[in-house]
Amino acid sequence: MALPDAIDALERFLDRIEPFDPEPQRPVGTVELKVGRGLGTFELTEHAVKALHDALFNYVDPDDAGTCDNCGSQRVDRNMRCHDCDYVSGLFGLTLALHAAEVQARGD
Ligand SMILES: [Zn+2]
Repeated sequence: MALPDAIDALERFLDRIEPFDPEPQRPVGTVELKVGRGLGTFELTEHAVKALHDALFNYVDPDDAGTCDNCGSQRVDRNMRCHDCDYVSGLFGLTLALHAAEVQARGD
């Protein structure tokens, strides 16, 4: 799988927020992004720094299914099964646990 063009993405991001920047001509920092053979250097204003900060902190990985209800691990797969303790979290996990308890009570 080819790498996404992160340099182009950052350039487009900065272009998208630039119209809302109250001081677009006052850079306060620089970001240099090197991916493979590509290199992008971006001057960031205070507005751009805040927007980039918020974008990074609000990012949620598509594979992030939350934390395990049992051990707190973040290695929970899309089926809500924890790879550290094998516990199944969420409503499905609760349903499984209730069913297992019923089966055990019946002695099956
Ligand atoms: Zn766990």
